[in-house]
Amino acid sequence: MLSKKKNANEKEIVSTTYASRFFTKPVSRYHIPDEGMDADVVYQLIHDELNIDGNPALNLASFVTTWMEPQAEKLIMETLNKNLVDQDEYPQTGVIQERVINMLAHLFHAPTNKQSVGTATIGSSEAIMLGLLAHKWSWRKKREQQGKSTQNPNIVIGADVHVVWEKFARYFDVEMRIIPMQKGQYTLTVEDVKIRIDENTICVGAVMGTTFTGQLDPVEEVNALLEEIEKEKGWDIPIHVDGASGGFILPFLYPGFKWDFRLSHVRSINVSGHKYGLVYPGVGWLVMRDKSDLPEDLIFYVNYLGSEEATYTLNFSRGSAMVTAQYYNLLRLGRKGYRQIMENSLKNARYLASRISKTNYFELVNKDIKLPILALTVKKSVGFSVYQLSDKLRERGWIVPAYSLPANATDVEVLRIVIKENFSRDMADMLIEDMLRFTKELIGEKKTKQESNCKNQIHKNIC
Ligand SMILES: *Cc1c(COP(=O)(O)O)cnc(C)c1O
Repeated sequence: MLSKKKNANEKEIVSTTYASRFFTKPVSRYHIPDEGMDADVVYQLIHDELNIDGNPALNLASFVTTWMEPQAEKLIMETLNKNLVDQDEYPQTGVIQERVINMLAHLFHAPTNKQSVGTATIGSSEAIMLGLLAHKWSWRKKREQQGKSTQNPNIVIGADVHVVWEKFARYFDVEMRIIPMQKGQYTLTVEDVKIRIDENTICVGAVMGTTFTGQLDPVEEVNALLEEIEKEKGWDIPIHVDGASGGFILPFLYPGFKWDFRLSHVRSINVSGHKYGLVYPGVGWLVMRDKSDLPEDLIFYVNYLGSEEATYTLNFSRGSAMVTAQYYNLLRLGRKGYRQIMENSLKNARYLASRISKTNYFELVNKDIKLPILALTVKKSVGFSVYQLSDKLRERGWIVPAYSLPANATDVEVLRIVIKENFSRDMADMLIEDMLRFTKELIGEKKTKQESNCKNQIHKNIC
């Protein structure tokens, strides 16, 4: 009896995941292994391996959501196996997508006497490509009708745009007329737009929350310019607003600020659901002001899923879970909930900004913080680079990226901090204290290095 029991115990111990033989053998990396493994073992192996990744909660580099409510996660788990494109099989998922598009069209003040259209995308990148493609098509059609050349379309944008705009231009063969930045001016100006637009301009881009500094392009002024140009020359040039981050912030924090379809030339807007829409990656949205802004040629009708469906996306299959999760957030939070979250994030961003500017080491690039995004430089006199501080912070787990601004401001190097809802006041205090501690360390290291150089008489001129 006794020995039998002992045997059973031993077997149990031997069969625990970490006691398995797989933990002392290399895992196949580049070839599919001939034999499979125990499910618990594979789970544990991959789970442990991923611990090398940064901690999403400390990732201040990304605009993308790193926290959702457990109930949202439950819905996500329940819908992971549904393909969004299978609208015939999953009609209610399709209905939910339509509801979200309608909610966003209202949020962005789409004219109620017109029929706005939109689509869920993988993110803002796909949404921007689709929006710009629609403008390219509309422009070409208009030119054909006028019997004019359809060669050489262009877009006019600031150098403050996200790389996806450049991708669009290259992939879809459109000339980019980039407005360079200068020291102290990190958004486009209306004068710069004016000298670059012409009859071949398919659209002007305006960014609401630039990737580099979180600032806003002067979209109201650009709109006024385009209204004037239309009267003067007859060119009807649309604006595409890149609201990847700002699209879910501005309507709640500054309801009176006009950046959306209230401006006559704004014909399309993209927003990342997975940024301040507060959904996990990958969901974005494209909303067109009016059905006529989306050329019929670009819509594909497919019937191989059962009934005829219209699609306007680059990708066919995609998960539906994040679309469902977006709907969850919109219902769960309502306008009030979104406003409160954005207010909290902005308060914490401004608090962090004020603590940063009180130090003698850093300078804020955007002093007037409208969105919860900070960009700061290390003062020249301090004597170390943003890259060194970024590395030090990384050792503690904070992920704060360092980079140079676009042309012609590439000599300005910044750290960017994106404040999200799960970044508390307490974390702001911890971050600033770490920044100060590492700053002192870096200054100390520099001093010691100088002293030892002097001792060894390497750099006589600085001793
Ligand atoms: C993040 C971002 C994008 C790209 O959006 P994804 O959702 O990551 O594809 C485009 N433009 C701006 C301004 C952004 O901040």
